[in-house]
Amino acid sequence: MASSPCAPHIVLFPFMSKGHTIPILHLARLLLHRNATVTIFTTPANHPFISASLANTNASIIDLPFPENIDELPTGVESTDKLPSMSLFVPFANATKHIQPDLEKALEALSNVTCLISDGFLIWTLESATKFGIPRLASYGWSYYSMCVCREVGVNRLLSGPESDDEILTVPSFPWIKLRRNDFDEPFNVREPKGPHIDFVMEQSIATAKSYGIIMNSFEELESKFIDYWNNKCEPKAWTVGPLCLAEQPSNKLQPYQNPKWMHWLDKKLAQGSPVLYVAFGSQAEISPKQLREIAIGLEESKVSFLWVVRKSGSELADGFEERVKERGIVVREWVDQRAILGHECVKGFLSHCGWNSVMESICAKVPILAWPMMAEQHLNARMVVEEIKVELRVETSNGSVRGFVKWQGLKKMVRELMEGEMGKGVRKKVGEFGEAARKAMEEGGSSWHTLNQLIDELQALRD
Ligand code: UDP
Repeated sequence: MASSPCAPHIVLFPFMSKGHTIPILHLARLLLHRNATVTIFTTPANHPFISASLANTNASIIDLPFPENIDELPTGVESTDKLPSMSLFVPFANATKHIQPDLEKALEALSNVTCLISDGFLIWTLESATKFGIPRLASYGWSYYSMCVCREVGVNRLLSGPESDDEILTVPSFPWIKLRRNDFDEPFNVREPKGPHIDFVMEQSIATAKSYGIIMNSFEELESKFIDYWNNKCEPKAWTVGPLCLAEQPSNKLQPYQNPKWMHWLDKKLAQGSPVLYVAFGSQAEISPKQLREIAIGLEESKVSFLWVVRKSGSELADGFEERVKERGIVVREWVDQRAILGHECVKGFLSHCGWNSVMESICAKVPILAWPMMAEQHLNARMVVEEIKVELRVETSNGSVRGFVKWQGLKKMVRELMEGEMGKGVRKKVGEFGEAARKAMEEGGSSWHTLNQLIDELQALRD
């Protein structure tokens, strides 16, 4: 759709990982549908993914080079494409500051920028936007639950107290929530956090609070209590505009070249009347070879049909596993269209790491989750969806702690419960209700639809 001369011009700048880029691309589509002019800043290595995702749209993409061989990162790290690993998160995020001079040149060259929406991790973009008098909004790929709980924990210094990792912590503003230190990842999971990671988090919080607003990929009907808390106690103003994955329906009319063998396999399972469990742990999780083999045994013993995305090529699952399960299981070692898989009629369960995008995509597809959180804020997401909105069951670890090795017996039990048991029926019903509410929030007249319109109007008024 062509933009009008007075259309707002919104510049988007995602962080260099798929989980942070994908929701921003959905946001780009929503803004384009509302006649905004959209420019995306990225690094050259991310360009192909972004341009393929936004093919046939009017979005412009501007490359900002990410210098090689910078001091913050070990030599040999391919730094422009994506976050190399979670262990390099802080140096990588700090190194993005090298892009600042080029970002400022690009902002100077663009005329009439209405606002910059940049990832919360790109702290320094606030300074650049301010220099040019452009409002900056920070985009966050977190649930409100995780944002609010982390704030409460920080303000009340809750984690400096408990001796043991599994001692229960009560969160003052949400007394019904029972957390453990183990629900937090670095840098919060130590008694007195110090060092580069906590410094980064503090700097990020300050820059976010000074920004014009934050963009949240959630919807009011899902997290109203936490949205109220944020609006009453936190800064800056939050704009709840999700689930962003509903900006575009997953295509059910894929071209032959986009229709990989696993989609045909799902069609076959549908024809056989076999419900399928989708197994995937996002783009960052690192799973030990021992745990991968245990998952293989659990899936084999569960006797359910499954499609399992294994991100590390060459991972040994178990001797002869793929051959033995070939009638009812498929292992995929490539990037898949997760939304298309979740939207397939035969997919009836999702064994997931609870990355927030995966949670949202599963809710929107009305597929219940078996939660297996691994790192970052995934443990908090898992608590939220298991205990608050009850659209998930959870895997059992062998030591009973929220972290720990998952044995095949426990996995088999919970997979069968999700796919066939009474608890599975309960979460399936609930996820259907929230999936419906998500659709309504995003359609014309819905809560997220209104909020995005209000944001655009407000930004437009600032410019006029
Ligand atoms: N994804 C995908 N294909 C893959 C792996 C991941 O489409 O093979 C997408 C998935 O649909 C989601 C994102 O990548 O949109 C992963 O984000 P999430 O927050 O779930 O997890 P992260 O990768 O950030 O841990």
